[in-house]
Amino acid sequence: MRVLVTGGAGFLGSHLCDLLIKQGHEVICLDNFFTGQRSNVEHLLDYKRFELLRHDITEPILLEVDRVYNLACPASPIHYQHNPVKTIKTNVMGAINMLGLCRRTKARILQASTSEVYGDPQVHPQNESYWGHVNPIGIRSCYDEGKRVAETLFMDYHRQNEVDIRIARIFNTYGPRMHPSDGRVVSNFIVQALRNEDISLFGDGKQTRSFCYVDDLIRALNLMMEQEQSIGPVNVGNPIEFSIMELANLVLEITGSSSKIVFMPVPEDDPQQRQPDISLAKDLLKWKPCTQLRKGLEQTVAYFEQLLTKN
Ligand code: NAD
Ligand code: UDP
Repeated sequence: MRVLVTGGAGFLGSHLCDLLIKQGHEVICLDNFFTGQRSNVEHLLDYKRFELLRHDITEPILLEVDRVYNLACPASPIHYQHNPVKTIKTNVMGAINMLGLCRRTKARILQASTSEVYGDPQVHPQNESYWGHVNPIGIRSCYDEGKRVAETLFMDYHRQNEVDIRIARIFNTYGPRMHPSDGRVVSNFIVQALRNEDISLFGDGKQTRSFCYVDDLIRALNLMMEQEQSIGPVNVGNPIEFSIMELANLVLEITGSSSKIVFMPVPEDDPQQRQPDISLAKDLLKWKPCTQLRKGLEQTVAYFEQLLTKN
């Protein structure tokens, strides 16, 4: 098949391109290189089946494809808040352009949605029927509400135009190829620990997240795309919940770092708790994550060690 991956030079997108090339597909990796890097997919450039395209999904594009994975959107709060209007445009106009392409070509499309559609949840753990608790006018809204509108568009193109859709609500994912200055907690803590700099812990560290290793997550996206039913949102993530303090201590232990934990102000609208209910994914996709946090962190630390030495 010919597969389009928008945001393909980013963290998740580049791992997805690896898998699709391994499976024998033709892959078009489309990216505007806002947070993605050519180096993430450089090793794929020698494949005749791989094509790298600089394009911004807020602009329409004509391509003939069988599958679209729509991943284009900065995922880290510091990046998506850098130009919030652009973030909304990417989520909304990008979704319209990609859904239009699929309506025309009859391609199947998967949307990389997010646990952020649940906002600061009042239901715990979160399952797909929960409508969320999102501040519509806060500094995270450009991302949260943008992703919510994208889900609406996907459902409406499905109901109105029979576009064959999949929606994956992705929970916090980490692993090699996260950008070292990405600003997300796993990459921040690892880079700080490896440099023996202070660990920037926002708030009291009691807030929780559930961290999924990238290989597990990419497997789920691929399974979701290739199961035959057109479906609405499905949570994908690792349901094992950790406090941010626990994460900091685990990173310090694995790196053997002498860094000190320093408490800093908590960012506006920072969700207190987050844990996916993945019953639906288990049922539908026969999928569950299998990489434990310690093992996944060890692999991520090894990646950053190499990167920092090289730089
Ligand atoms: P990332 O920032 O590494 O990758 C996003 C990619 O999209 C980058 O390569 C960037 O250059 C590209 N991009 C951004 N705007 C674009 C535009 N207008 N046109 C074309 N390309 C554009 O982030 P990631 O972690 O790989 O996330 C990928 C997707 O998964 C995002 O849609 C994100 O919202 C979603 N997601 C990720 C996580 C996670 O924990 N990593 C969690 C939930 C959802
Ligand atoms: N966080 C932190 N230090 C950092 C970066 C993040 O303590 O250097 C906290 C942040 O406040 C949040 C959690 O870690 O409670 C996860 O943040 P991230 O930006 O990785 O993901 P998201 O908030 O989007 O889930």
